[in-house]
Amino acid sequence: MTEEMIKAFGEFQVEKGIYEQINGIKIEDFKALTSNQALKTIDLYCPLCKENKTFIYSKSEYINGLGQLPYPSEDGFGTAYTGAIRFLNYECPSCGKKLVYGFYHNGKASVTKITQYPSLFDVSRDELKKYQKNDLIDKVSFSQLYKAETCASSGYYVAAYTYMRRVYETMLLSVFKQYEQEIGITEDNFRKLRSDEKLKSIKNYLAIDDEIYIPLYGLLSAGIHAMTEEQCCEDYTVLKPILLEILAEQKAKKEKAAKRKELKELFAKRKGEMK
Ligand SMILES: [Zn+2]
Repeated sequence: MTEEMIKAFGEFQVEKGIYEQINGIKIEDFKALTSNQALKTIDLYCPLCKENKTFIYSKSEYINGLGQLPYPSEDGFGTAYTGAIRFLNYECPSCGKKLVYGFYHNGKASVTKITQYPSLFDVSRDELKKYQKNDLIDKVSFSQLYKAETCASSGYYVAAYTYMRRVYETMLLSVFKQYEQEIGITEDNFRKLRSDEKLKSIKNYLAIDDEIYIPLYGLLSAGIHAMTEEQCCEDYTVLKPILLEILAEQKAKKEKAAKRKELKELFAKRKGEMK
């Protein structure tokens, strides 16, 4: 068995949905991939701890002899293959929450993912992961957006909006803190402002210079208080990428400002040496 196969199976296990298949895996490899070669840890949102946790592999359960599955063979008589099912069990180290994956091997060379419990984890997180991997948004925002995505993937869109609005509010506060001196009001007073007033007070420091900030806040609030699950669901796919873009731009802007400051300090420090 190659490293590539282990990697491919690990990705299949975590990323793919129920009933998806992976081919080119012999039964001996399947047994190894779902025992000694199984993924040892999986990073996922734990619904009990309500934060990201590293689930630890605990055991594998194997069911053999699911009957003979005939395939045509060269001698024309057909060859019997025996299917097998294996479950991989993981546990949250903090709360003991179980995470289970189930696979069916058809006895030939194909594996089907047959279960993943809780289904809450069956989440499309690719885009979000890309942002996390490349460190494009801060950790707190990521964790909140991850929760939003988890809710949305289970059909709880209104709940997802509460997380998204929280991310948005945290972003506004963080912009305020960065430019507190220049803005000239205290944090206490900033917190007391209405959302549109907050946005007006920091508008010169926002990464994207346009008119979407106030209506965006309004829409996220409407999602929580006035809209149906269906309406929230409809808008979610538009709002999520916009929010990610704003967060990424804001983080980049902050880093750029920090580098500028560093450079100015360097100029000041080397003033004597520079002619
Ligand atoms: Zn947990």
